[in-house]
Amino acid sequence: MKQELINLQEEALRALERVGNLEELNDLKIKFLGKKGKLTVILRGMADLKPEERPAIGKLANEIKEMLEEKFSRKSLELKEALKQERLMRETIDVTIPSKVALGHKHPLTLVLDEIKEIFMGLGYEIVEGPEIELDYYNFEALNIPKDHPARDMQDTFYITEDILLRTHTSPVQVRTMENRKPPIKVIVPGRVYRSDEVDATHSPVFHQVEGLLVGKNVTMADLKGTLITFAKLFYGEERMVRFRPSYFPFTEPSAEMDISCIACNGKGCRVCSYTGWLEILGCGMVHPNVLKNAGYDPEELTGFAFGMGIERIAMLKYEINDMRLFFENDLRFLEQF
Ligand SMILES: [Zn+2]
Repeated sequence: MKQELINLQEEALRALERVGNLEELNDLKIKFLGKKGKLTVILRGMADLKPEERPAIGKLANEIKEMLEEKFSRKSLELKEALKQERLMRETIDVTIPSKVALGHKHPLTLVLDEIKEIFMGLGYEIVEGPEIELDYYNFEALNIPKDHPARDMQDTFYITEDILLRTHTSPVQVRTMENRKPPIKVIVPGRVYRSDEVDATHSPVFHQVEGLLVGKNVTMADLKGTLITFAKLFYGEERMVRFRPSYFPFTEPSAEMDISCIACNGKGCRVCSYTGWLEILGCGMVHPNVLKNAGYDPEELTGFAFGMGIERIAMLKYEINDMRLFFENDLRFLEQF
């Protein structure tokens, strides 16, 4: 029986030498050391031994079992390590292969807004923000848009309750800023605004505006024009022509709209400018005395100007985009162009 044990040990060790993977190793372990394995079968014969022979054989059997178990687990570690090394080799990154990693970048609306912010910050303006869910008072009433004004049409505004709504423009922040600060005030207000418009190539229920407000002593229409002409030349280029047309807004008096010479045709007339040679880019005016009063200012003492523009429209003109929906669809083929 002693010889049987020694033979088993040698056979197991030889087999172990030839093992090439973890699966084979496991099979081998079961074959020799498993519950129905070769060692168990030999040890069953212990019952036939003389009592005085048993301790020596039992000791030998245990020694062999322990030794084989150790060899098996060492082999198992070796195989696992080899597997790991092989995987590392396979997964090694070849830094010489040309890279195709896509880098994220800014959305065209963000690019345009960043550029506008930079220009006005260069002119000494500060950036302020306000709530998108707004009180009727700030969105309309404080801006000289009384209850019966057509601009308050339910068709245009998302009301949450009778007094709370999604702001339809960034202008409520004008009043909030005047209430919270002492003049002189020089701020721009970027942000999202909401109108209950159907989605089409030039309308979206949510879009972006940037608003500007300057309030101080002796502020005149000349300051307004000077500021906006400077902006237009910095944003659209020195060669851009600028004109102001009289207009109407409830919260400014007098009010105007600013046009620039068409970017596409340089003023000759084309489809982009509806053959007028001009493109409207923003609305502006002197802050209405009622708005100053509503903010607690004395219109005899202080004056100011305000202006506002739609970021989508500015971006569409700048990048010659003909459909506003492209900004919101997140189609990478579109976004990757900027
Ligand atoms: Zn044109």
